[in-house]
Amino acid sequence: MKFSEEAVFIVKTLRDHGTAFVVGGCVRDKLMGVDVHDEDITTSILPQKVSEIFKELGYPVIPTGIKHGTVTVLINRKPYEITTYRIDGNYTDGRHPDSISFTADVKDDLARRDFTINAIAYDPVNDEIIDPYHGIDDIKNKIVRAVGDPNDRIAEDRLRMMRAVRFAAEKGMVIEPGLYRAVRNYAHEITSVSAERIGEELHKMMTGRDPREALVLLHRTRLLEAFAPELDILFDTPQNNPHHIYDAGHHTAAVLKDIESTDDVLRFAALFHDAGKAAVRTTDEKGIDHFYGHPAVSAKIAHQVMKRLKYSNRLIDGTVLLVKHHEEIGDPKMNMAKYLFRNQDIASPDIMKQLFILRRADVSGQNPDTWQKKYDDMDALEQKLARITVFSEKDLAVNGNDLIGYLRDRGIVLKGHDVGLLKNSLLHAVMVEKEENTKEHLLAICEKRYRMLLKEKGNS
Ligand code: ATP
Ligand code: MG
Repeated sequence: MKFSEEAVFIVKTLRDHGTAFVVGGCVRDKLMGVDVHDEDITTSILPQKVSEIFKELGYPVIPTGIKHGTVTVLINRKPYEITTYRIDGNYTDGRHPDSISFTADVKDDLARRDFTINAIAYDPVNDEIIDPYHGIDDIKNKIVRAVGDPNDRIAEDRLRMMRAVRFAAEKGMVIEPGLYRAVRNYAHEITSVSAERIGEELHKMMTGRDPREALVLLHRTRLLEAFAPELDILFDTPQNNPHHIYDAGHHTAAVLKDIESTDDVLRFAALFHDAGKAAVRTTDEKGIDHFYGHPAVSAKIAHQVMKRLKYSNRLIDGTVLLVKHHEEIGDPKMNMAKYLFRNQDIASPDIMKQLFILRRADVSGQNPDTWQKKYDDMDALEQKLARITVFSEKDLAVNGNDLIGYLRDRGIVLKGHDVGLLKNSLLHAVMVEKEENTKEHLLAICEKRYRMLLKEKGNS
């Protein structure tokens, strides 16, 4: 196994004073042949001493978590976490050990780690692997297995339930049956973990390699029911409708699979796009299900759940916007320019591009018999979109000052609110009435349009 020069240097340096290994996710990912993001190091040397060793050599050292045995050394501006071998004491809060103690044996440290695939240490100086729990076999056989008794390990730290699902989905592995049962047993207690940490894990799953598998596993393990019942209920929401072949939950999973981009806004929009279906479902006399008005309800649920999981406003607002509008495009006869004029919140090429990606994925998660026509319709709509150059007032060839100046010369004093109304009227002129978007032309028609506005105002 080949690790970076920096990681090898750190291990070598530490080995002059004790023992040291690269450990955890980086060894697992190296063995799997996937990209390694951070190389963590574990050592017998106490944190204070680790800090001194690297400071003396002239490297910046950050006391990240001296209490937990972790210091961070910066080499070539990259941070490397070095953690002293640790034994975790009792867990009483279901998340953190009450106390920790240091140990000189790497095997003690590996014993506190969550899964066998994460409990492998490697010494790149002597090319030695320490794998007491047969993590290498589990990597080969693609099994997420607890180190030791799965019930005990989940009881210690509930977050491990989310981690088990995440690794299974991300690495294409299965959860070992004993661990799977332990997760199902404790799933309802996931809410004792902070909302931020649950949210972080869900975010990693949604932006990872297989968000479809992640969602289905969250449902099967009952974790979803515990931390997002609003989504879990979709798996109990049938869609007896010629457009659909799945219940709303499996449909959502299929849509997630078809969002190739790892853009979190798109992935979360897919996750929530039909969340409102359970609440609005009606069945007509022929036994066909309908979901009238579900996008608005879905948007509300997305907002509520994402706030609860403490996501950023950027992610929440972006998601809610796409969810709210996700069913509006599709009719090839629709007047795209008029639609954008009326829906200024999505009137930008970037947002429309996202909406098309979501819509295509949504369609591909429906009945294959109706795909082709819907895809053709969307191609036609995208061509219409490509011809649109004016989306909002900022794309107009005149700005507020141009209008104020031009009308002032004609004895008209344009006040704040009226500037906005006039600009909106000119936007309508360009987008819907197909007036030419040049400064000359817009100024030429602005006086007449302003008088029309005054008249309308007078009438209302
Ligand atoms: P990735 O960084 O790709 O998500 P990772 O395995 O590196 O995966 P980290 O959260 O960075 O995960 O943790 C590093 C290592 O620390 C893990 O490989 C595991 O050995 C150990 N570890 C992390 N969290 C826990 C936990 N909750 N319980 C037990 N061990 C843990
Ligand atoms: Mg890591």
